[in-house]
Amino acid sequence: VTEFCFACDAMLGKLARWLRFAGFDTRYAAPIPDLTLAGVARAEGRWLLTRDHRLASLSGPRVVLLHADSLAGQVAELRVRLPLHAQPQGFFSRCSACNGPLGDISREYVQDLVPPYVAAHASRFRRCPDCGRVYWPGTHTGRIESRLRALFLAEG
Ligand SMILES: [Zn+2]
Repeated sequence: VTEFCFACDAMLGKLARWLRFAGFDTRYAAPIPDLTLAGVARAEGRWLLTRDHRLASLSGPRVVLLHADSLAGQVAELRVRLPLHAQPQGFFSRCSACNGPLGDISREYVQDLVPPYVAAHASRFRRCPDCGRVYWPGTHTGRIESRLRALFLAEG
């Protein structure tokens, strides 16, 4: 199974966040200039995702030019180009804000980092080593997971 990793241009912030929710290692341009991002993507072996024809033409072979405006349309185009192999067990394994790889942390450790009710009742906690955000299964998690299944696992 190939693990794809990505770099999204400045217009694709929403797609970047959802690729991270799905567990894909995804850099996001802003505030990096797009041409700099293209160089970073090349150096790191990432697929550059862009809606900009000019940027696509200036990039290396690993580039996917997207046309759709909607998230669902963009993911569908991406899945036509690349066999993504998203796995439910990989969902929520990356920080949606900064792309850090989340690690499990214990309940005692989060006491001072999350609201008391959450510290007492959430089933598990994960922390981003890069920005320090703490994640736990909450009210939005089920809805996001349903959307992830529809986006990444449904048969095209
Ligand atoms: Zn983070």
